[in-house]
Amino acid sequence: MPTLKNKSAPAQQKARVRRIIDRLEKAHPDARLDLDFANPLELLIALILAAQARDDLVRQITPDLFNKYRTPEDYAKAPLAELEQQIGKINFYRNKAKAIHNCCAALLARFGGKVPNNLEDLISLPGVGRKTANIVLGNGFGRQTIGVDTHVMRLSQRLGFTDKIDPDKVEADLMAFVPDTQRVRFCHLVQYHGRRICVAKKPKCPECTIRGLCPYPAKTKT
Ligand code: SF4
Repeated sequence: MPTLKNKSAPAQQKARVRRIIDRLEKAHPDARLDLDFANPLELLIALILAAQARDDLVRQITPDLFNKYRTPEDYAKAPLAELEQQIGKINFYRNKAKAIHNCCAALLARFGGKVPNNLEDLISLPGVGRKTANIVLGNGFGRQTIGVDTHVMRLSQRLGFTDKIDPDKVEADLMAFVPDTQRVRFCHLVQYHGRRICVAKKPKCPECTIRGLCPYPAKTKT
């Protein structure tokens, strides 16, 4: 995977990321987190289901699931076989049912049945990593966090914002450049651009709205 050495001064990088956000906003005004949820618990459950799965499949499952189970207690008390059946369309459904069960049991035991609103407590939950925690904080609690998924990672490297491959280090590099009011929006825009234009195998550079701001050396020519 090609990586770029970030040699631009921080001020120039900050100006460039603002221009990139402006252009991506015009290109993808519909960008959003592609999961349906009404509260932090639903978001947390949806994110556990979304691991290595398509968001549209998660969206097919969650309406019935959220209708049936409304609190961490509902999930923790449900027989595992019942939860497995409820989410059986998704990949790794046995592991995911167990993860949901254990996570909700921990919410009950340690957090009074509430999803915590800080990173340290969130990543202490079974099955919750830093990416998921940041997405919960950003989209469920209105914090300006950066959850580094595959699209955020790939585009940040191609756009020269990081030369790291460790998600925690990529997050740290982005936190230095992305305006602190636009971090969640940056992630949504980059995710949509990564799905539609800057795809993994052959990015559609000729039709890319930010090609003039992109230093990726392996740009697609035609
Ligand atoms: S110019 Fe190509 S590599 Fe750069 S962001 Fe656009 S699609 Fe991705």
